[in-house]
Amino acid sequence: MCYNQLMEKFDIIILGGGASGLMCAISAAPSGKKILIIDKASSLGKKLMVTGNGRCNLSFDKDLNENDYNQNLDKYFKILSSKQTIALFNNWCLVCYTDEEGRVYPYSNNAKSVIDVLNNKIENYKNISKLLNTTFEDVEYKNGYIIKTSNGSFFTEKLVVALGGKSGENILNQFNIKTKPFVESLVALKTQTTKYLEGIRISPVKLTIKDNTKIEFCEIGEVLFKDSGISGILAFNASSYFARKGIFDGEINIDIMPNLNKEKIKELLIKRKSLNLPINKMFDGIFMPQIAYFILNLCKIDENRTTIQLKNDEIELIVNTIKNIKFKIKSHYNNNQVYSGGVLLPELTDSLESKKQKNLFFCGEICDVDGKCGGYNLQWAWTSGYIAGVNL
Ligand SMILES: Cc1cc2nc3c(=O)[nH]c(=O)nc-3n(C[C@H](O)[C@H](O)[C@H](O)COP(=O)(O)OP(=O)(O)OC[C@H]3O[C@@H](n4cnc5c(N)ncnc54)[C@H](O)[C@@H]3O)c2cc1C
Repeated sequence: MCYNQLMEKFDIIILGGGASGLMCAISAAPSGKKILIIDKASSLGKKLMVTGNGRCNLSFDKDLNENDYNQNLDKYFKILSSKQTIALFNNWCLVCYTDEEGRVYPYSNNAKSVIDVLNNKIENYKNISKLLNTTFEDVEYKNGYIIKTSNGSFFTEKLVVALGGKSGENILNQFNIKTKPFVESLVALKTQTTKYLEGIRISPVKLTIKDNTKIEFCEIGEVLFKDSGISGILAFNASSYFARKGIFDGEINIDIMPNLNKEKIKELLIKRKSLNLPINKMFDGIFMPQIAYFILNLCKIDENRTTIQLKNDEIELIVNTIKNIKFKIKSHYNNNQVYSGGVLLPELTDSLESKKQKNLFFCGEICDVDGKCGGYNLQWAWTSGYIAGVNL
């Protein structure tokens, strides 16, 4: 459909044709109302292509743990749970599978399948129009919303903001919607230099964050080292702890042999000591040489020595280091997957409509909801998009 500069009138305009905006449109469409989706991208749902490394981890199939989200979302998931979402997608002809971690993917292992079924649904509804390659610029309220875009202005009775992370900030300011500041989350962590380890993956490792003595975060998984930092799902999940606090400052502890206790590791090392190896060969068969080098460096043990020269307290030190490598967190990299923060949920009704501003709805990442890696963020996009959609 082609638009000219005359202001066309819609019942509903949805800003953003990403995960939540598309779910919102599909859920609102059976009402027969005239709907317009505006997106700056060249196709709907384009961003989904990069999710889950191109596979799109669209949901989860397991019980929720306390820190999977930054807050309790039971009342929303009672309306559309992850199981109901998967059933909905199945109805729309998307075949899914669940991996051993409870992550749900399309059977094709390709995000394009998710985009295809969403687009097929959208195309089925003749009352949904889309305006692509169009950037939302401004909004004005005059007994309805006048939406100004790079492709002209449009009038709507009801407005849904589904712009993802921070893109809708001007709307939030304009209508005085209370928010928690947006902070990058699910992002690689910057630490002291880890250049010896750059490119090395270690799995399993146990990553712990403590606040004084209280354990605030503890997960086992894989880490991937960067030049001066740590990436991988475990680091991403740890980043959500710092993002929710609003500051990337603190310490993480990594146990690189979580499956063995200190006594067992000590036994292994003592056996190697008696072999009288060059000290840098001491970890052969356990770790990659880069990790061995990193540990010896941390323990300030000269690599030109032999294992037989190791004193008992040095063995103790190596064992303690293996079980607890400390990394001071300095900040984060720029590749965040989501934002923590956004519209405070108490600002919204149970239908995700602003309590202050009638007929203004919010869904997806712009809300103060952030989840860990594992399909939690897309699930919130589906659930919140659905709730707004059926209430429009
Ligand atoms: C690399 C990467 C991988 C990810 N992998 C996963 C995963 O596997 N599982 C998971 O659960 N979550 C994942 N996420 C997070 C997930 O993508 C988001 O939580 C989710 O897309 C949020 O949905 P949304 O509808 O709120 O926003 P989005 O999906 O971001 O959609 C917002 C839409 O608004 C449009 N837009 C923005 N500004 C404007 C403007 N001014 N004018 C017009 N249009 C505009 C954008 O083009 C976009 O289409 C990943 C994120 C990234 C970046």
